[in-house]
Amino acid sequence: MSHDLKRYGRNTQTIHAGQYVDEATGAVAPPIIQSSTFAFDNCKQGAERFAGAEGGYIYTRMGNPTIARLEEAVATLEGGAGGLATSSGMGALCTLVFALMNAGDHMVGTASVYGPSRVVMERDFSRFGVESTFVDTSDLDAVRAAIRPNTNLVFIETPANPTISLTDIGAVAAIAHEHGALVLVDNTFASPLLQRPFEHGADVVMHSMTKFINGHTDVVAGMIVPSTEELFTRIKPVHSYLGACMDPHQAWLALRGFKTLGMRVRTAQDNARKVAPFLEAHPKVEWVRYPGLDSHPQHELADRQMDGPGSLISFEVKGGIEAGARLLDNVELMTLAVSLGGIETLIQHPPSMTHAAMPRDDRLAAGITDGLVRVSIGCEDADDLIKDFEQALDHV
Ligand SMILES: *Cc1c(COP(=O)(O)O)cnc(C)c1O
Repeated sequence: MSHDLKRYGRNTQTIHAGQYVDEATGAVAPPIIQSSTFAFDNCKQGAERFAGAEGGYIYTRMGNPTIARLEEAVATLEGGAGGLATSSGMGALCTLVFALMNAGDHMVGTASVYGPSRVVMERDFSRFGVESTFVDTSDLDAVRAAIRPNTNLVFIETPANPTISLTDIGAVAAIAHEHGALVLVDNTFASPLLQRPFEHGADVVMHSMTKFINGHTDVVAGMIVPSTEELFTRIKPVHSYLGACMDPHQAWLALRGFKTLGMRVRTAQDNARKVAPFLEAHPKVEWVRYPGLDSHPQHELADRQMDGPGSLISFEVKGGIEAGARLLDNVELMTLAVSLGGIETLIQHPPSMTHAAMPRDDRLAAGITDGLVRVSIGCEDADDLIKDFEQALDHV
């Protein structure tokens, strides 16, 4: 069914993984198999499918041909054992916690993870006896100090949201594995085009496909990619029954978006490489955080761990929260909205938006200052984005 795509480059893989011609019709674009259930030829076949003795589909929550294409596509690019698509990025995280952790287990996570990822651990999973500690995982001593005898999962987000700080996946994986803990990497920000965590020792990768993988700001979706068959087999039954499953139409849209991941990521990154130095040189900007700038404290790690600095930039306007609000209220081309990784440039204020549910002290400790502005650079013309920043900063 699947081509052997390992010998091809990443752009070829992105375009061809999961994209084989439909056998029944010859359709080049994948058909949307919008069916909740699949007929069996006879009782014996039904029984064998349920027993796992025979492949083939049963019920869409447990598997669907259109969703399977997307799972194969993302897993191919990540270099994992398979994919498990979910209704959202949060669905992917929750499925993983249910699959990999028990009451009494402990997780160590990146302090500045995506806000809801931290909230769901500290507020919700804690009610089921799953403990978590969030530390600056770019500080290896802090990771070591946070690990307990019952730590069985280390959860890294790199680059992290919205501070754009990086974690050395290989170094953290070495510490985690020494203690028998698995390493989960949220690879949403980099996308598999710019960073492949399995090459650095990660055990499981998750994505919010809402962002770069779908890339068109019209789908909410997630993906789990385990590195080994053993992990895949452990997670799959929870994924089938927990209910955070994907819809075939959602999968089809994400698969369509995925095909252009290469060109979108490259164009947005080229733009970010022009916008970041412009912001850094602007007299009204206090600081800029972008892995492609020499001023990024982990510039060297970015070069070693990633295939490019990506298109997320954080910065602070001089004058703190009010000055930042003036900027945000005056952008014309850019859109004031949360989310990232779409073809259009989105700008937002994490302390009052995505990370508002976090207590202020935790927020500040994670490096998310009151005036921090995050921009997800899109695929417009770089000059137009710079002009928009110029005029909006004039209002500050
Ligand atoms: C958006 C996001 C999530 C959550 O994904 P949803 O698809 O919104 O549920 C998780 N991690 C990161 C890094 C994100 O940006």
